[in-house]
Amino acid sequence: MTGPHAARDIDTSKPHSARMYDYYLGGKDNFEVDKEAAERVAETYPGIYVCARENRAFMHRATRVLAREHGIRQWLDIGTGIPTEPNLHQVAQSVVPDARVVYADNDPLVLKYAETLMRSTPEGRTTYIHADANDPDALLGAPELAEVLDLTQPVALSLNALLHFIIDAQEPYALVSRLMSALPSGSALAITHCTPDYDPEGWEKVSAIYYAGGTPFQVRTKAEVARFFEGLDLLEPGIALGHRWRPDNDGVFAEGVTDAAVSLWAGVAIKP
Ligand code: SAH
Repeated sequence: MTGPHAARDIDTSKPHSARMYDYYLGGKDNFEVDKEAAERVAETYPGIYVCARENRAFMHRATRVLAREHGIRQWLDIGTGIPTEPNLHQVAQSVVPDARVVYADNDPLVLKYAETLMRSTPEGRTTYIHADANDPDALLGAPELAEVLDLTQPVALSLNALLHFIIDAQEPYALVSRLMSALPSGSALAITHCTPDYDPEGWEKVSAIYYAGGTPFQVRTKAEVARFFEGLDLLEPGIALGHRWRPDNDGVFAEGVTDAAVSLWAGVAIKP
């Protein structure tokens, strides 16, 4: 890969959140430094593997519900992560073959694999923008976004496991409002967010490991996560733990899939 964010920008001297998450999911796109940090997280918080898997599974279900029941044809997925099949566009296009998806992330390794995220159906469109969520105007103004998304039609904004990397000093509520303000009525917001509500001590240690690796990290309570949805109409069942948001399994969960292990609030809402 060439260009301003070439593969040489990949920093293997400190752990990266995208690569640690890849490790939790059993992926291979991580380095020794990520594996070490991820294993330290798992030592203090063994639920992390379940949390990561349930986070990904929620994304699949939420995408299908929005496509099937709410007429969503376009997605903006910020903090998309290292490609992990099925990626969001594959889930969306399995329901709506002409779905359009814009992916964004600020990690150079995600950029390196972005080609995988661009393998759309012929009817649909996908693109990838290397961008920082903390600069929503640059992201919304990117020409690639305008090529793929029609902002006069509903768009689902997917912030899946992103906002716990945006600390209060970075004004995450203003960020979400700014992004939603660019989208028309009928658009959707889907969020997952790690929470200290079930194991405050465990998550304090997890936060410390991310901070030690140079990644700011802030878990939030259910009320704090609910604030992201202010002014929007939450779909049933409201804000729920990831595995309990419209499970496909009649509420029968695999061993180890407990509320405390998952520790991830999830919600989907529609803009009136
Ligand atoms: N959304 C995916 C991946 C979550 S991991 C999923 O839920 O399966 C979190 C991702 O957010 C990582 O890929 C990380 O690189 C990205 N990220 C963190 N801070 C970001 C920022 N400020 N701007 C853009 N992406 C960011």
